[in-house]
Amino acid sequence: MTTELTHYINGKHVKGTSGRFADVFNPATGEVQAKTPLASVDELNQAVADAAKAQEEWAAVNPQKRARVMMEYVRLINRDMDKLAEAISREHGKTIPDARGDVQRGMEVIEFCIGAPHFLKGEYSGNASTGIDIYSMRQPLGVVAGITPFNFPAMIPMWKMGPAIAAGNAVIIKPSERDPSCPLMLAELWTEAGLPDGICQVVNGDKESVDAILDNETIMAVGFVGSTPIAQYIYGRACSNGKRAQCFGGAKNHMIIMPDADMDQAADALIGAGYGAAGERCMAISVAVPVGDETADKLIEKLVPRIEKLKVGPYTSDTEMDYGPVVTAEAKKRIEGLVQSGIDQGAELVVDGRGFSLQGYEDGFFVGPHLFDKVTPEMDIYQQEIFGPVLCTVRAGSYEEALKLASDHEMGNGTAIFTRDGDAARDFASRVNVGMVGVNFPIPVPLAHYTFGGWKKSAFGDLNQYGPDAFKFYTKTKTVTSRWPSGIKEGGEFHFKLAD
Ligand code: NAD
Repeated sequence: MTTELTHYINGKHVKGTSGRFADVFNPATGEVQAKTPLASVDELNQAVADAAKAQEEWAAVNPQKRARVMMEYVRLINRDMDKLAEAISREHGKTIPDARGDVQRGMEVIEFCIGAPHFLKGEYSGNASTGIDIYSMRQPLGVVAGITPFNFPAMIPMWKMGPAIAAGNAVIIKPSERDPSCPLMLAELWTEAGLPDGICQVVNGDKESVDAILDNETIMAVGFVGSTPIAQYIYGRACSNGKRAQCFGGAKNHMIIMPDADMDQAADALIGAGYGAAGERCMAISVAVPVGDETADKLIEKLVPRIEKLKVGPYTSDTEMDYGPVVTAEAKKRIEGLVQSGIDQGAELVVDGRGFSLQGYEDGFFVGPHLFDKVTPEMDIYQQEIFGPVLCTVRAGSYEEALKLASDHEMGNGTAIFTRDGDAARDFASRVNVGMVGVNFPIPVPLAHYTFGGWKKSAFGDLNQYGPDAFKFYTKTKTVTSRWPSGIKEGGEFHFKLAD
């Protein structure tokens, strides 16, 4: 039986009225397990109008009280960690430990938001000129929107919800239609934590509701995370409609392996970062760049047996799996198409995951692990984000060539270098044209008190997600210049009479 999912509006689950739905699959079996409503323009606009009404009072609640709602929210997320993780795995396909990580990394941003009062402080210059004081304050924008991808249905909605709400805004979340259950549960928990109705609205939908967000005049800012073409489209339309926008796109993260690297450590790192979550992470390493043929040969030799041991299966398995299915049949087909293009364009398929099938789960969207060697920059598998369990090896002749590869790729989300040489690591971190860098660390997702954001076609807009940047994004600065000429006469008396 398929479940009919809802929206979450004004503190309640609300059925969709547009008559349009999207199927939500169980990626492990290939079956449709739920249908999610796709909001109409009217449904979206009504949710925004209700949010705008609620936001006026929320903005007047002092930041410390808002922070207490965050504290309670963290407690509830911890309480419901298992339920949330199960909901993610059921619709996304990732393993339970991965799903818990998804919730954990989102919750860390909410924990950071408990300190929001500190970031909402303004500045003050007393007696900036004779009798003149200047001060600035950070005020909420009003209603803001977050449009989020399928691959982190807990973490990314929380990256948007936490700072927007802590700063005194109301937020509309438009989650991915692939796995909308976890965002709905997250919204419900806000109500339980004491957030007033209307401040966190989850409106499920597709392009129609996204376009309605972009054209809605009440929405002041849009935070998007997803693929690059959609990020670019949303950034353009939101900005031309006068909204503040930050849109984070796809990735092609390179890991440079220097000849002096600890090869076992590098191979282990590549297994986790390349194949974990079936490669469906924007910080996955999808390109290994060993420097020198000897390094490349050693690396491949270490990788192959590790890849062959990977356990692929449903999250419900008794034994712990390394990764699960990809999200949809289309995603699987796209990955298979790219693998074929790699073969056709002359890359060497060292580990062939084609034709992977699991007994009892023949209709699931499982993709076996693949390893390509001798990939070259003009190949499609190098240029495009595969977003699957496919690692490409590009052999570089020198460190400079490896650095140039990572720097010249049009995506610039994350990168890493594995080396024992401090000079090389330092040079790489300083010169590489990419937003987030790991040194002997394959997935350098910054902690919540830093900020997250790639460069080049991995991000459009000029402030990062979470951390201090988020409070800049979700507030506007007002600066007051005030003059209070001294009321005290010579001799200490006031010009006016003090009340008795
Ligand atoms: P996607 O671009 O297909 O969808 C993202 C969101 O946009 C969803 O809510 C979807 O409903 C909406 N959308 C889809 N097509 C649209 C259209 N034509 N018009 C308007 N809205 C549309 O991305 P996805 O497949 O859900 O997520 C995977 C992508 O997200 C990968 O490219 C991955 O690298 C990227 N990602 C980036 C980051 C980052 O921080 N840079 C983080 C996570 C994921």
